[in-house]
Amino acid sequence: MHYYRTHNCGELCKKDIGKKVILSGWIQKIRNLGSLIFIDLRDFFGIIQLIFSKKLINKIELRKEFVIKINGEVIKRKSINQKIHTGEIEVLVSRLEILNPSIPLPFLIEDQTDGDEECRMKYRYLDIRRNPIKNNLILRHEISLETRNFLSKNGFLEIETPVLINQTPEGARSFVVPSRIHSGMFYALPQSPQLFKQLLMIGGIDKYFQIAKCFRDEDARSDRQIEFTQIDCEMAFVDVHDILIFFENFIKHLFKKIKNIELESFTCISYSNSMDLYGTNSPDLRFGMKFVKLNEWVQKKGIEFLKKKELTIGINVPKCSHYTCNQIYSIIEGIREPKINPEEIFWIKFFTDKTILSSKKLLSHENLMKLIKFFKAKPGDLLFIIFGKEKKTRAKLSKLRIEMAHHLNLKKPQVFKPLWIIDLPLLEWDEKSKRYKSFHHPFTSPIKEDIHLLDKKNPGYIRSKSYELIINGMEIGGGSIRVHDKNIQDSIFKHLGFSIKDIESEFGFLTKAFKYGTPPHGGIAFGLDRLITILEGKENIKDFIAFPKNNSGRDTMVNTPYFLKKEKLKELRL
Ligand code: ASP
Repeated sequence: MHYYRTHNCGELCKKDIGKKVILSGWIQKIRNLGSLIFIDLRDFFGIIQLIFSKKLINKIELRKEFVIKINGEVIKRKSINQKIHTGEIEVLVSRLEILNPSIPLPFLIEDQTDGDEECRMKYRYLDIRRNPIKNNLILRHEISLETRNFLSKNGFLEIETPVLINQTPEGARSFVVPSRIHSGMFYALPQSPQLFKQLLMIGGIDKYFQIAKCFRDEDARSDRQIEFTQIDCEMAFVDVHDILIFFENFIKHLFKKIKNIELESFTCISYSNSMDLYGTNSPDLRFGMKFVKLNEWVQKKGIEFLKKKELTIGINVPKCSHYTCNQIYSIIEGIREPKINPEEIFWIKFFTDKTILSSKKLLSHENLMKLIKFFKAKPGDLLFIIFGKEKKTRAKLSKLRIEMAHHLNLKKPQVFKPLWIIDLPLLEWDEKSKRYKSFHHPFTSPIKEDIHLLDKKNPGYIRSKSYELIINGMEIGGGSIRVHDKNIQDSIFKHLGFSIKDIESEFGFLTKAFKYGTPPHGGIAFGLDRLITILEGKENIKDFIAFPKNNSGRDTMVNTPYFLKKEKLKELRL
């Protein structure tokens, strides 16, 4: 006989009427009706209603979240609750034991709680008792399990890689851990298992994966944590095409298994197309409003005030000509990073009665008409035109496009539009440090047609064999085919400003390993936290992590980071 329970709180139903049961759980709710007292008892599996006679409870004080054990009999319930599995029955209690009391709670343990995020983080163990968080953790488990099953069935081996390592090349800041034994020396925590998975390929492993913890010392955001989890993969003897096909199937499999959603074939566009059409490499394809480039049109029509601008682009927002200028101003003013200055934007309302109104008197009526035609706008549409320096102008219009979609309620959480971005740049110029940086990481291979540009002056134009998976404007994964040719690798290192000495000290072990017969290989890593968040149509990844850090990287529950005591610092000789 089980001591604590014969059944859980979610499984009993009509067919169990008459059974003698033992149940244990938390008190969710107490209703005192005088002679009878009703208590909702909750455990991981569900909720069940208990009835106590006043005599039984008498002087015992019970409160929410006390852990109790009861003996009783399952009986038919008078007022049926259709919403829960146990809604047709209740348990008439004959014996009560308090297993553990609870002090008053900082917030309600309900689906709709009164606790704000800060408070919920501090008492995360209580937050986990609530269904929304509990269900997210169950979902996370299911996705991890499906990932393991799918990849194992397809010949991937799950291999752990170390956590106390040397610098990794993902381009973020690494966390470091001081070594006690090797005074003054440090380990770095992995930004990803990148170098180790490549070494596994050199080691002859054909397909690797790992659900790996990664650490990046960056500012946290609603979609980014300093400590996060990757589904990290690497395959030998593959090219871009093989990776895209295989992992498209993997993502489709997860959506089908977990959400019963059949995803359509993924769209695939190059980085440069994505920048031209959406001004970003992570566009949300749930809505249109593609960019229309006006540089040629401007030249052809001889529009003086725009002729010298590096870029003039616009979008057509359908059915929005009725927006008032005040509404539009407040939308534009609300956009930050980058901010849109009023003098670099204007809009044209093409009313349903086919009249036209421009926010600035910059174009003749004839040119306005022509512009509307150029955009293929329909009566009722609203055009935004923005101009200035190429990079910034694109970024600004991209933000405005998203903002308008938000206003028009076009970001439907249950619509999924996956997209592969390919041919991302190999290198990008960093204005701050005045040098090139890897767009992905230094082990990414250039595409064949662009290899010759490695010897040229402007390597910023080199495209790479890299890819990113975007769903609904969120980057879900990214990877590349790796360099396995020593000369190409050396040339990339040179462009990145590494001296031979730096290469030797930072990646010497890897470049040496490359000399022992390296198979062509490539891989990808998916952000597990983001993937789950997007699958649920949500935006805050914290809700899908059992014990997340807050936006300033703190865990307020365990109170970390913390100051080391003097003795400890001394022991570490810091
Ligand atoms: N290690 C890379 C990253 O974390 C992914 C990859 O190239 O496979 O972004």
